[in-house]
Amino acid sequence: MAAFRYHGPMQKKYETGLMWFRRDLRVQDNAALYHALKSCKQVYCAFVFDRGILDSLPRIDRRVEFIRESVLSLDGQLQELGASAGRPGACLLTAHHGAVDAVVRLAAELGVSAVFANHDDEPQSLARDAAVQATLEAEGKAFHSFKDHVIFERQELLTQAGKPYTVFTPYKNAWLKKVDDFYLKSYPVETYGAALATVSASRRPVPSLEELGFEASNLSVLKIPTGSEGGAQLFEDFIARMAQYQETRDYPAIKGPSYLGVHLRFGTVSIRQMASVALNAANLGGEGAATWLSELIWRDFYAQILSNFPHAAGNAFKPEYDAIKWESGEKAQVLFQAWCDGRTGYPLVDAAMAQINQTGYMHNRLRMVTASFLVKDLGIDWRWGERYFAEKLNDFDLSANNGGWQWAASTGCDAQPYFRIFNPVSQSEKFDADGKFIRKYVPVLAQLPGKALHSPWLAKPLELASAGVVLGKDYPLPIVQHDEARALTLQRYAVVKKA
Ligand SMILES: Cc1cc2nc3c(=O)[nH]c(=O)nc-3n(C[C@H](O)[C@H](O)[C@H](O)COP(=O)(O)OP(=O)(O)OC[C@H]3O[C@@H](n4cnc5c(N)ncnc54)[C@H](O)[C@@H]3O)c2cc1C
Repeated sequence: MAAFRYHGPMQKKYETGLMWFRRDLRVQDNAALYHALKSCKQVYCAFVFDRGILDSLPRIDRRVEFIRESVLSLDGQLQELGASAGRPGACLLTAHHGAVDAVVRLAAELGVSAVFANHDDEPQSLARDAAVQATLEAEGKAFHSFKDHVIFERQELLTQAGKPYTVFTPYKNAWLKKVDDFYLKSYPVETYGAALATVSASRRPVPSLEELGFEASNLSVLKIPTGSEGGAQLFEDFIARMAQYQETRDYPAIKGPSYLGVHLRFGTVSIRQMASVALNAANLGGEGAATWLSELIWRDFYAQILSNFPHAAGNAFKPEYDAIKWESGEKAQVLFQAWCDGRTGYPLVDAAMAQINQTGYMHNRLRMVTASFLVKDLGIDWRWGERYFAEKLNDFDLSANNGGWQWAASTGCDAQPYFRIFNPVSQSEKFDADGKFIRKYVPVLAQLPGKALHSPWLAKPLELASAGVVLGKDYPLPIVQHDEARALTLQRYAVVKKA
């Protein structure tokens, strides 16, 4: 049967509507913006700096700066689209307030009949949207939302038994079977620019970081490009490397991955554009493109897991794994803090933690290594690590982060088996063989030669002395012995076998 794209509210034309941007900070190929422009004579556009989220964050947060810069860019894109469509004065309205109140108030002040937004299926966002919808409807206004953030969402892909998939490979096969041009084609927003509403010149400009109560982070020092232009620039750069992705992606010292995570998170790039370029290249036999496409499918997979199994946020996906007794008390606090600070005595783990602490990025291989180390070498509850990554990652996404942690902890839907425990030294020898990554992020060890760099406690006294390293003073001794930790973990997970 031919696929059918939902055009529900489109037959009904509104005088005025409000487009509410959230995790879709771009004009190009934006589903809700397209539908708003198509179904309303005039569309106002708004972004809310949600105090419900922002007020609890530390005063320096790269994500807030990334969002603010991208909102500024979005404002520019709307002005440009308006100007080219004969609507000078079109722009973005912003508010710094609780989201529900701000949207309802804006809708009333602007006298719109409908609010348009793209789906956000995180549990708290669903609750927020339900509150907005209920209040708007009580005032006789409509709320329309659309799929934009993923290729397939919610229950679009089900098993033959009509159930959501919980195993990746059959999900991926079903995804690849169903996907076609219809699901990947771009929404031609540009055609409808004339429906943008003009806004009085006295509108308040996008607030500065200081006005939002934040201080500058090192985002610009790190040269992390923001906004749609930044996303496009990274994608262009990656397209040239995509063919090698499957060979380079596992080595943190190599520029292998796309670094597009933060752009996919905040919608400064379109997933349809990314997936379509990857699929076309994969269909021409590109192995790198096929592998990268698989990663994008993992992203859809975890998004539908969270949407269909919301208990996974906060609980083991497989409930029997919640019987595991994790380390607790002061010992757990000390071990956890050493992990957070990159002071475990395992150089690759410490280098990875330095990377996330300094840049907000961590290479995928290292996310697996550090997560496994926290849970299976230190015996710490995976939720502690999940929370730490949520605070630090620029590309933090509840569904992918939860999926990644539950995979590493073996508590997840399609996780690695509990008895598979990464050896942090052999991971280091394999994926950072010449130690380039470790030397960059743990400079105190930079002068250590070859093998000693991966396990400094085994280095010869002369090697340590000539590298200027005193173990226990300049660099920690290992906080656990991997072999002992491994044995303890197998015991810890034995409750699962009995369950
Ligand atoms: C413990 C753990 C926590 C993680 N937390 C997050 C998170 O908060 N946010 C996040 O986007 N990814 C997360 N990942 C997945 C993955 O590590 C990152 O998406 C990737 O490293 C981002 O870098 P990149 O954009 O250069 O990725 P690329 O390798 O270029 O991949 C392209 C995109 O595919 C998606 N993707 C890749 N791998 C995965 C995956 N395993 N699961 C879901 N999506 C994937 C991402 O959107 C990524 O940007 C986590 C993985 C683990 C093991």
